[in-house]
Amino acid sequence: MDYDADNIFAKILRGEIPCDKVYEDAHALAFRDINPQTPVHVLVIPKGAYVSMDDFSANATDSEISGFFRAVGHVARQLGVVGDGYRFLSNIGGDGHQEVLHFHVHIFAGKDLGRMIKPIDK
Ligand code: 5GP
Repeated sequence: MDYDADNIFAKILRGEIPCDKVYEDAHALAFRDINPQTPVHVLVIPKGAYVSMDDFSANATDSEISGFFRAVGHVARQLGVVGDGYRFLSNIGGDGHQEVLHFHVHIFAGKDLGRMIKPIDK
């Protein structure tokens, strides 16, 4: 799938749409989700134009990949959620219900998050 430079997170990266910024460095931007699902709900996005985790892992440079995942860990520590625990998750494609087609990870925290996923119906 081609990257759409007009997706909402590309606009946030360009400063065309505001965000509640939590952290920024050369490789990543982190900001609070506009529609939080948990008491702490932060999105971390790479600065490069990648559609998904699949695209990112296949096409980003080693320094983009290491810089991005270091930033995710940094954000979790900065948010103070490591002690009680948190979840990071990335939705990909249709079955993954990815809404915004710029690779991002969600950091969910601030409550007991329950089990990972609903069991499949038998
Ligand atoms: P996805 O399903 O693609 O993994 O999730 C996209 C997330 O982006 C959703 O949780 C949604 O609430 C969030 N989101 C969509 N538009 C905006 C926006 O303009 N600003 C912020 N901060 N979050 C957004």
